Amino acid sequence: MNGQTALNHHMVRQQLRRAEFGECGTNQSNQEEYMACHGYPDIIAEPMIQPPKRLLYGPGPTMVEPRVYEAMSQPIVGHLDPFFFSVVEDIRAGLREVFGTKNDFTFAISGTGSAGMEAAVSNFVEPGQKLLVLANGFFCDRISEMGRRHRADVVRFEKGWGESFSDDEAAEFIHKEKPDVVAFVQAETSTGVYNPGKGISAAAHEAGALVIADCVTSLGAMPVNLDENGVDIAYSCTQKGLSAPPGLSPISVSPLALERLRARKSTIDTWYLDLKLLDEYFEGPRRYHHTAPITLFYGLLESLAVIREEGIANRQARHKKAHQRVVKGLEALGMDMLVPEGKRIWNLNTPKLPAGVSDMTIRKHLMEKYGMEVLGGFGPLAGKILRIGIMGPLATNEGVDSLLAALTEALALK
Ligand code: PLP
Repeated sequence: MNGQTALNHHMVRQQLRRAEFGECGTNQSNQEEYMACHGYPDIIAEPMIQPPKRLLYGPGPTMVEPRVYEAMSQPIVGHLDPFFFSVVEDIRAGLREVFGTKNDFTFAISGTGSAGMEAAVSNFVEPGQKLLVLANGFFCDRISEMGRRHRADVVRFEKGWGESFSDDEAAEFIHKEKPDVVAFVQAETSTGVYNPGKGISAAAHEAGALVIADCVTSLGAMPVNLDENGVDIAYSCTQKGLSAPPGLSPISVSPLALERLRARKSTIDTWYLDLKLLDEYFEGPRRYHHTAPITLFYGLLESLAVIREEGIANRQARHKKAHQRVVKGLEALGMDMLVPEGKRIWNLNTPKLPAGVSDMTIRKHLMEKYGMEVLGGFGPLAGKILRIGIMGPLATNEGVDSLLAALTEALALK
């Protein structure tokens, strides 16, 4: 429904209400009638916008728990209010748990996952420094592009989309190139490949480089384990494994990376994403930097509370189980997985389309009949795969089985 249609619906509802309560002025002592006359009930009772209810089985955004929506409808406070900073502190503690880190420098940037990516690249790669990107998908390309725009010397180890890097070949390339910073994507959403990154980090540290890991799709659903994997800078989003709406980018920085940041000589060439300035807002003197989106912070805190109640290990195990169930079902439907077992993202499944089957036909059927969103491949994988997210509240036997039942129907349409 577009804005104008929503507005028309709103006016029709208002007219119906007037019809129900009578014309204005007939009984002003009746509060409901009074409010009906002045249109007030629509403002407090029902929002104008009535979005369709979707089942989000795509790579993100994914389903949001009702209590997260409820948290987001709580009254806002000021962005310098002590209550807001208590929310910030609780979020920081929750993020350390899901990231698997003791890094003090952990908070949520106002902006989507790409803001975290740009903060990582612009703060930790100085102009002229060498940024080595392990490139096997769309988001590795985005990191490379950001590196170029921030005037880094970008070198890439290229692999086909859907392929992974072995620790040995990544280490060989890193030792040959001797970069200042190595970047990789832990869960590449364009292909479905997961790489925890321990081997990459070990080689990078031997070469004296810092490690940036994109954890946009892994955080909250798969093991991220920053400390164990030796990652120095990690960023993520809120709209995938954390089951909150998009708009914030969790970021975490190791003490080693922080030391480098503090020793940096050149000015960071973005103001909004300057982590030293952000640190003075979220930590230390609590100095105004920007007006934080308070409501999104409420939502993130609530989603982290949901995760803590379930337990992060249990939540990961639930996603793994749902992944195994969906893979079994997809294979029974004649859909082989693009990525070999052991290298797959649990919460983002990428089955290959059977010959002669169009992803558009499947997606249209699922959306029109069941309001289910799944996405297709793009770039070199356009028309070749589906991208099916089984995350958060949908990562259950029922969630998987509903999707498989709808897919069985859609495949029979060809
Ligand atoms: N990195 C990865 C792996 C992603 O999947 C995405 C988005 O899907 C991004 C970065 C960018 O995040 P956002 O779209 O929230 O800016």
